[in-house]
Amino acid sequence: KKYLDESSERKRLYNEVIELKGNIRVFCRCRPLNQVEIANGSSSVVEFDSSQDTELQIVSSDSSKKQFKFDHVFRPEDGQDAVFARTKPIVTSVLDGYNVCIFAYGQTGTGKTFTMEGTPENRGVNYRTLEELFRVAGERGGVMKYELFVSMMEVYNEKIRDLLGESSNQPTKKLEIKQAAEGTQEVPGLVEACVYSTEEVWELLKSGNRVRSVGATNANELSSRSHWGTNLINSQKTKSHLWLVDLAGSERVGKIEVEGERLKESQFINKSLSALGDVISALASKTAHVPYSPSSADLGETLCSLNFASRVRGIESGPARKQV
Ligand code: ADP
Repeated sequence: KKYLDESSERKRLYNEVIELKGNIRVFCRCRPLNQVEIANGSSSVVEFDSSQDTELQIVSSDSSKKQFKFDHVFRPEDGQDAVFARTKPIVTSVLDGYNVCIFAYGQTGTGKTFTMEGTPENRGVNYRTLEELFRVAGERGGVMKYELFVSMMEVYNEKIRDLLGESSNQPTKKLEIKQAAEGTQEVPGLVEACVYSTEEVWELLKSGNRVRSVGATNANELSSRSHWGTNLINSQKTKSHLWLVDLAGSERVGKIEVEGERLKESQFINKSLSALGDVISALASKTAHVPYSPSSADLGETLCSLNFASRVRGIESGPARKQV
């Protein structure tokens, strides 16, 4: 009974959200200014409105203001729990058979990894999602059996790397995205580990993380130069997928002084992020996490990220489909 009540409540919320906003939701998170920005005399270019939590304004150096509207705006003082409270109903719908993808978009240093991964003291969306999925699956264990699998991949310079495969020294295969059922994509050959607990997945993710490609740039000493994602697969009846994605930094080449390998990486990153924008525009659906930097030194990048987010959000919703 509890399972059925919960499931119909989630369906109700899901349908309500679709009816109201389409099935991509865009949340915008503004991190606090950091010590370096404060020491450099940067000020925040973001203005919030105390009477609502869906809009913000960006103030340019000539004092002109541009307004942006999202499904929700998280302020610098909002913690990881506030972010997860909004994310929870979306991620748990994978247990009801929906495909879900959550991704963090923004310039390097804006808080994508903090939001998705968090720290051991301050867990982010990924860990909280795992805990919640195992909690709900456990609760429903008497009624329905879940088989959960995890895979982990990185896209670096347009090549797919199997992070779980590589971290467990499995022979490397050539991996490609293939069209799968119902307009979804799959990467055949990716290692899928059957998992039973949050801690078990977390250990796998940590070892996968260790083989990721990282590069040093001036924007951030150790910044991610690749997109990476964790795929949780619910194999009960038909497969449904939950992708948790941390994208590479969206900053444009030129802002950071890059050359050689770094320049090549940046070009691939820009190309893939612009392709992502095109894919999203083509979808008659809605969802994303779009953080940006509040500092005046990053005004241009912040406006770019917010424009991207607005573009995502501006898409009209199509008929309800099995994808959140
Ligand atoms: P990105 O993944 O976008 O490159 P990070 O997540 O690494 O950025 O964040 C850069 C720095 O800012 C980190 O030191 C992180 O702890 C800090 N940070 C990011 N977002 C927040 C936040 N909302 N509150 C406090 N610190 C934050």
